Amino acid sequence: MQFFSTRDAARQVSASQAIVQGLSDEGGLFVPQSFPQVDVQAVCQLEYPAMAAAVLREYLTDYDPAFLARAAAETYGAAFAGKAGFLAPVEGDTWALELWHGPTCAFKDYALQLMPKLLVEAKRNLGRTEKTLILVATSGDTGKAALDGYHDVPGVEIAVFYPTGGTSEIQRLQMATQQGDNVAVYAVRGNFDDAQTGVKRVFADKQIAEQLAGRNIRLSSANSINWGRLVPQIVYYFAAYAQLLKAGKVAMGDPVDFCVPTGNFGDILAGYYAKRMGLPVGRLVCASNKNNVLTDFLNTGVYTARRAFFKTSSPSMDILVSSNLERLLYHVTGSDTEVAALMARLSQTGSYTVRPETLAAIQETFSCGYAEEDQVAGEIRARWQQDGYLCDTHTAVAFHVARQNKRAGVPMVVLSTASPFKFPRSVLAALGQRAPENDFEAMGLLEQATGRTAPASLAGLRGKAERFDAVIDPEQIAAVALGCQI
Ligand SMILES: *Cc1c(COP(=O)(O)O)cnc(C)c1O
Repeated sequence: MQFFSTRDAARQVSASQAIVQGLSDEGGLFVPQSFPQVDVQAVCQLEYPAMAAAVLREYLTDYDPAFLARAAAETYGAAFAGKAGFLAPVEGDTWALELWHGPTCAFKDYALQLMPKLLVEAKRNLGRTEKTLILVATSGDTGKAALDGYHDVPGVEIAVFYPTGGTSEIQRLQMATQQGDNVAVYAVRGNFDDAQTGVKRVFADKQIAEQLAGRNIRLSSANSINWGRLVPQIVYYFAAYAQLLKAGKVAMGDPVDFCVPTGNFGDILAGYYAKRMGLPVGRLVCASNKNNVLTDFLNTGVYTARRAFFKTSSPSMDILVSSNLERLLYHVTGSDTEVAALMARLSQTGSYTVRPETLAAIQETFSCGYAEEDQVAGEIRARWQQDGYLCDTHTAVAFHVARQNKRAGVPMVVLSTASPFKFPRSVLAALGQRAPENDFEAMGLLEQATGRTAPASLAGLRGKAERFDAVIDPEQIAAVALGCQI
């Protein structure tokens, strides 16, 4: 299987190259040249780690299959406490695919626990000896998941930059207490955009790249445009279907709809790949918060990133440029020149419009909707009071939109992307209780109010020694990169 760039199909690379490189040189994203067809029945009979290996094998064809089997077994076994791809009943034929049983309690663990292994092996496959410096700008979840995945990986150093005051206290502590000799965490004065812009500037700086190259170091990113982050997410769509089959809720071939709380369009796009591989995915429902740029796009075909930005209670979905949408545009238009032109318009004018045929092709599979902040809170309360199901703010966005898009007789799986205890103040307030300022107090009160237990990895943060307290300006990110010690 070869991969090529969404903006220039002549640029072809192997899976290993796509994973090492991340982004194509001219700015395009790597997409697979075809959609491998799998024996869905057979794949659905596998346990999660073997299922993961079966999916990975189809795309990462220049990797040793024995390596993939081993890596999947190491990643999705004990670290997910036997709950990889766990499907929980909610009510009727609505289900929650709980993706937060990994080490950092967010779905990004599925990709970021595996990705470091894929990167190290890709370098081996390609005979490359350079060291890798990973820079991550994060508004919360990605930073911790990346730190946890990359800590103590040989030949790699990782530096994470988060905005001062831009994360929850729990998210900040998750990062500040991270163990490992090859990790560093910095608070950056400003908001997420300031941190992200600072990191992007370093990636675009040829002089920095040259200086690092002189020390045999190459910069890399852990964000979700890398194919290595997307491919592990395909697996849990199969896992959800397999569980519905086993429980007799569907017969092989019956459609199942999925509703996905969406930011960068990576998680939902993985569902599209699963569908194109033969899994009977019905509709993919794209759920947005008040930053509803994708709702507008999927309804009208006009993508407008130039709009007001809202800070919401589902911060991991506060995104105006959903990078992975570019991959979908390529798959439905089949034209690299068309995608390149749309992306050029986006960067020049902040907006683009797709052809009516393109929109119609997308709408054949994708539905959409969004939730206002009071609807998110109302949804958390309703799911708890009516169904006894406790969910976080991101998942609540999806439940709200799932109800609007529920089809009679077709099971709906809502992707549950974070533990409710990761955002205890918002969840507690949604349940009608006064939320204290302190996250840990809120966690305790949420446990009392619901009788549920907070994950040990979150509760255990209390009183843990903080290792990183540096606060820097965005301009200092370059100096941090050049000062790396690998
Ligand atoms: C990252 C994230 C999302 C959005 O996922 P995308 O792949 O960016 O669309 C949703 N929920 C949570 C909790 C997240 O961390």
